[in-house]
Amino acid sequence: MEIRIQKCQHCNSTNLKNILYRESGEPDRVYVQCHDCQTFVASYVISPMGYYHNEKGYESFLRGVLRSGEFMSGRRLKRLFLERSEGEKAAFEDVIEKLRIQEEKNKDELD
Ligand SMILES: [Zn+2]
Repeated sequence: MEIRIQKCQHCNSTNLKNILYRESGEPDRVYVQCHDCQTFVASYVISPMGYYHNEKGYESFLRGVLRSGEFMSGRRLKRLFLERSEGEKAAFEDVIEKLRIQEEKNKDELD
């Protein structure tokens, strides 16, 4: 397991801006820019159905499914949405907790 907070390679800032770029027929891309020094930090491509936007609700999820080209029944979509949102929220809590433990351990080592 590896958990890291992305940093600007130029100024070490963690104050980064994620710019979501969406064009029809193309996979979604994210460009990461440093908010402090404006440097281009990273870019990545999001796999179909790979993007989960918390608190955006079912309609946003449906648009994501449509963009991915998947077809399935309404009932299956609804179930998939509930599983996805529960799963993503639980995974997020888990990552935040692991990060907290990791940062505490690093702090202890420095003391
Ligand atoms: Zn920077």
